[in-house]
Parts: sequence; structure tokens; C-alpha cells
Amino acid sequence: MNYYERLDIKDTASLKEIRQAYQQLCLKVKPKLTSFIQIRVNTTPKGFMKSSKVSETNAAYQVLSDTQKRFEYDQLLRKSNLAGAVQADVDLDDMEYNDENSTYRYDCRCGGMYIVTEDQLEDGIAGVECNQCSLCVKLHYQLAEEE
Ligand SMILES: [Zn+2]
Repeated sequence: MNYYERLDIKDTASLKEIRQAYQQLCLKVKPKLTSFIQIRVNTTPKGFMKSSKVSETNAAYQVLSDTQKRFEYDQLLRKSNLAGAVQADVDLDDMEYNDENSTYRYDCRCGGMYIVTEDQLEDGIAGVECNQCSLCVKLHYQLAEEE
């Protein structure tokens, strides 16, 4: 189960939707948590930490509510999902380079675009998703050797 499924939201959910979903889940979980703490408070504090449902929901929220962390998580998800959704293999040479913002672009058949930044390439990004539809392309490139 990924973080989006954990919070029961779509992977396109806005920050507001993420917050709402999280609050809903907290409302559901909290009464249970309270009684859990009451039972555990005189026994082992560590038992409380193992309340996995709460901590996993929190973990999901921590990541998805943070733009940078969510971006990284999305990259990971895409990498692992890529096999099923790849529309094409694209060589970096086939992509159009934009000097102004150091990005490569490639037209999607839906009319959208695949956009990849040099930073992403340096991070070793495996593929990129269309900005309009859910298709992906797999990227083929070699990192330039640092001189
Ligand atoms: Zn597309």
C-alpha cells in the first residue's frame, strides 16, 4: 500500500485534499489511540510506538504534505510503476533542449509534454510522466563525466 492509498486519496490530490484526508483519518483513529494509551501508559511505553496504523498514516502525511518530499516520493513511485505505463523509450538526443530553464522536452501524443530538468537527470531519473496524461516515457541517457 503506498502513501496515497494509505490516506485514501488520488496521486493528483492537492495539499488541501491531503490535509482533509489526514484529518478524517485522525478523527477515525484517535478514539482508539486514546484508549490504547490509557491501557499502555503503565506498562511499556514502547508498545505505544508500535501503533502502526497511526504512525503509517503520520508518515504518509509527513511526506505528502511536504512538496519536496512528495516530489521525491512520486519519483520513486513512478520508477516502481514505470514498467506498466511506459509509452515509449526516448533518447535524450530526441528531446528538445531549452536553454532558458535547462530542461528537455518531448511531445506526448496526447498533446501534452514530457519535461525533464538537468537536475533530475543528474539524480538519475529513469522516466518521466506526461504533464497532461498518465503516460510515461523511459529515458535513455548517459551522464557526462565530470572533468
Ligand atoms: Zn500525454
